Amino acid sequence: MGYRFCPHCGDALVIRPGSSITRPYCPRCSKVFYRNPTVGVAVIIVESDELLLVRRLGSHEGQWCIPCGHLEWDEEVREAAQRELKEETGLLARLGPVFAVHSNFHDPEHQTVGVWFLGKRLDGHLKAGTDASEVRFFPLGRLPEPMAFPTDRLVCDKLERCLRSGVYDLLLGSRFTEEWSTPPGRACLPG
Ligand SMILES: [Zn+2]
Repeated sequence: MGYRFCPHCGDALVIRPGSSITRPYCPRCSKVFYRNPTVGVAVIIVESDELLLVRRLGSHEGQWCIPCGHLEWDEEVREAAQRELKEETGLLARLGPVFAVHSNFHDPEHQTVGVWFLGKRLDGHLKAGTDASEVRFFPLGRLPEPMAFPTDRLVCDKLERCLRSGVYDLLLGSRFTEEWSTPPGRACLPG
């Protein structure tokens, strides 16, 4: 649900005529309210050709997904991916390259753009965290049901193809350098 009233002055928002995209507008503040997807991050951990999945608590409870979560405001995207993995599975990981990026429309009211990173376990003990009831490795040809997100299925299909063809090892081998594990940080921000 979008805004119906201006969060600054409380006046009712209107739709300005003449635009092909309708966006709420506050005539008093002269402000347009844009609605954009948020960013989701996920980490792919494969060991012995098996993929790490978590069984969710809360939203989509009981369904399985690749460990994931939402980017917080003021948080670097790779740090967010590592944080979510740690919170859900107990594992610390080094991150590799981006494996996939998809728009998520499965929940029309909460649309996101998902970024799936390749990851490699550095440390930690596998243990379901606060957002998960179970955490386990599965062979890609025998994923558990139900899976929570359609785009995770796309990622798993691509992953299976990459593992079968040897591309996965190439991605992992050539790209897992210090360069990839170090977040670029805030070099572009002032200060
Ligand atoms: Zn206003």
